Amino acid sequence: MKILFINLPFSGHIIPTLGLVQELIKRGHKITYLLTPDWKEKILHTGAEFSEYQDNKKLSVQMRNAYDAAIKLAAGFDLVIYEQFFFLGKHAAEKFNMPAIRIFTSMASNESIMKEFVNAGGMFGVFRSKWVCRQWTKEVAKGIELKTDCWLKEILHNPPELNLVYTVRNFQPYAEDFKEENYKFLGASIYQRVPDKPFAMPPKKYPLIYISLGTIVNNAAAFYKKCIRAFEHENVQVIMSIGSLVSKDSLGKIPDNFSIYPFVPQLEVLENTDIFITHGGMNSVTESLYYGVPMIVIPFMTDQPLNAKRIEELHLGKKLEYKNITSEIIREATLSVMENSSIRQQTLAMKKELRSKNANALGADIIDEYMSGYC
Ligand code: UDP
Repeated sequence: MKILFINLPFSGHIIPTLGLVQELIKRGHKITYLLTPDWKEKILHTGAEFSEYQDNKKLSVQMRNAYDAAIKLAAGFDLVIYEQFFFLGKHAAEKFNMPAIRIFTSMASNESIMKEFVNAGGMFGVFRSKWVCRQWTKEVAKGIELKTDCWLKEILHNPPELNLVYTVRNFQPYAEDFKEENYKFLGASIYQRVPDKPFAMPPKKYPLIYISLGTIVNNAAAFYKKCIRAFEHENVQVIMSIGSLVSKDSLGKIPDNFSIYPFVPQLEVLENTDIFITHGGMNSVTESLYYGVPMIVIPFMTDQPLNAKRIEELHLGKKLEYKNITSEIIREATLSVMENSSIRQQTLAMKKELRSKNANALGADIIDEYMSGYC
């Protein structure tokens, strides 16, 4: 089968899909992944072919570039697989009478969830205005027939038949809104990732705290300094991933119990971690639970506040507000969650559930079965 994957160039939306790509290739399918040029090396490493569209700082232009490139490329494919926020994936497939399958790398969306995403700000904040959403959609989807007048509504009201979601049903809020036959919950996308740089875990002497704000909201030098003050005199070890926008030198004297990197192999680190201080991006949350690691979640935007709320509801960790956060608050919350046996138990139960699924093999089985109806 020839499959066209299409995505927007956000790490958190791409990283989980690469395990599925590898699995489908292992089964003999031919994959072309359409993305911006900076992703070429990582895509080729999976064994997929790479095809590109031009990157642009404006999401609307980026999205349209992806659609136009998809239309030029799509003839001769059997299936389009797209991430939910590249909402035109379904329309591109329909133009060629091809089936489309949608992937959710954050939780699946319904009206309430989408509303919370938008109200949480970040790149979707601007769509709080219905007028902006309509104008924006008009510009992006010029000449394309939509069911609705706003792209976020299009995500909700023009779904494909089959949707693959990278979490477990128990974590999904409003789970009853997502029918079993249309929404398949895969679990965590755990697979062999390409290391960016060689990495050696520092030897473990004390409990390990891992701190990362993911790949988008990580320009947070003041927060990293607070974390240093929080733990510099504690009998803990800390690995902190700070991204490429903050330099390690700007954080002052680094205590001996801290190891700081621009990027770490997160799965390897989580495997050795006792508690994760995270922004609550969906991938980080699912990966943390897969390794049975409780979390301190400091959410910033989009799905993060909702994930944080869910983590507290399910007793998997604790949420902190970024506004007014201090070293004392970080230290106290972290040490108290580390000692909380009920949180530990709930986290281990979630780990068990996530480990009962091999997300990407399951995803590939579901895709093969679905497509057998088309052959
Ligand atoms: N990640 C990583 N190393 C790092 C920081 C992040 O491998 O040092 C990966 C992490 O494993 C996850 C992704 O980057 O798969 C971040 O996705 P998430 O949804 O958590 O947050 P986003 O970056 O989209 O805000």
